[in-house]
Amino acid sequence: MFSELDQELAALEAQALRRRLQVVEEVLPGGQVRVGGQVLLNLSSNDYLGLALDPRLLAAAQDAAARWGVGAGASRLVVGHLGLHEAVEAELAAFKGTEAAVLFSTGYMANLGVITALMGPGDVIFSDRLNHASIMDGIKLSGATLHRFPHRDMAKLEKILQQTPGGKRRLIITDSVFSVDGDLAPLWDLVALKERYGAWLMLDEAHATGVLGPGGGGLAQALGLTAGVDIHMGTLSKALGSLGGFVAGERRLIDYLHNRARSFIYTTALPPPVLGAIQAALAIVKQEPEKRLRLQQEGGNFRRGLQAAGFDTLDSETQIVPVLVGSNEATLKFAAALRQRGLMAVALRPPTVPPGRARVRFSLSAAHASEDLAQALETIVKTGKEMGLTA
Ligand SMILES: *Cc1c(COP(=O)(O)O)cnc(C)c1O
Repeated sequence: MFSELDQELAALEAQALRRRLQVVEEVLPGGQVRVGGQVLLNLSSNDYLGLALDPRLLAAAQDAAARWGVGAGASRLVVGHLGLHEAVEAELAAFKGTEAAVLFSTGYMANLGVITALMGPGDVIFSDRLNHASIMDGIKLSGATLHRFPHRDMAKLEKILQQTPGGKRRLIITDSVFSVDGDLAPLWDLVALKERYGAWLMLDEAHATGVLGPGGGGLAQALGLTAGVDIHMGTLSKALGSLGGFVAGERRLIDYLHNRARSFIYTTALPPPVLGAIQAALAIVKQEPEKRLRLQQEGGNFRRGLQAAGFDTLDSETQIVPVLVGSNEATLKFAAALRQRGLMAVALRPPTVPPGRARVRFSLSAAHASEDLAQALETIVKTGKEMGLTA
């Protein structure tokens, strides 16, 4: 019955595109993991501040469970809106510098929920070509007309805005830090364009939350552009170390989402242990800016080291550092060779990246020791040279 699936899987295998799950047998301190019996430096994690293992988050999760239970018991609008949700949302609004915020179970669900709530058939969405898959899925599900613009190409975006007759609603959506390239959205230009052409602007700060900005609030905060963004979206599953997504903005936007975002309405509220961990993480982000400063410094050192060795790190400016390889096969071989030498880094292939632009992506964390990162850099450079990957 499933023989067609066999064929498709075989076709993926033939193109070096088949993916397989691998078991992480143990999560170790210092941003390390044990996989296949081997201890590896984990350069693939989104736990950018090393908070997932922080004892303060563990304790807060336990305390919240003891006080409120392991599950919320219902969806938010039924009877799952605990005092703890109310408190965390107020803290998130303060963290983002907005009137209000609303939690979703994941960042994926936040994007699905907010885009489908606000946009529908007849409306028009302008989306950066490298936006995250959850944004693409939200757009598809919304039924709005989609215009994708080339990555960070503001001249092209302006042209499309000019040529597109005013739909009922117009929404520009962009990641702030792009998950594949580690580069930044041109936010000043985006704010200017959305004002000039009467559009809303939505910013997905999944990889910037806890990392950029004087308070860790993200790119909009870093640039003083909080008020220029209509819809702030972020996740608690990356630098904040646990799970969940959120949308922050004006009170009336959040009230509207309570009524219209189906991925908020028709699912069980986030569980108390996760909320406890989020509260502890927000407190740490506020009190320990040194974590994100060190992450940015290490990112810069790492990137410069790779560039000096002749690697193409694209336009990365963050803790996410890609190394462009090209073919799927060479990228897989490079990642496999690094793994043999103790480094866990993902090979990104189409459809995640355009054909012929496969790459290995390194994600740094404040959990990593400086010596481990210096050692990793040396290993990557040596391996790349041996494989003929450097210019
Ligand atoms: C990871 C990610 C999401 C989804 O967040 P989850 O909390 O993992 O569901 C959304 N947008 C971007 C840009 C992401 O990188």
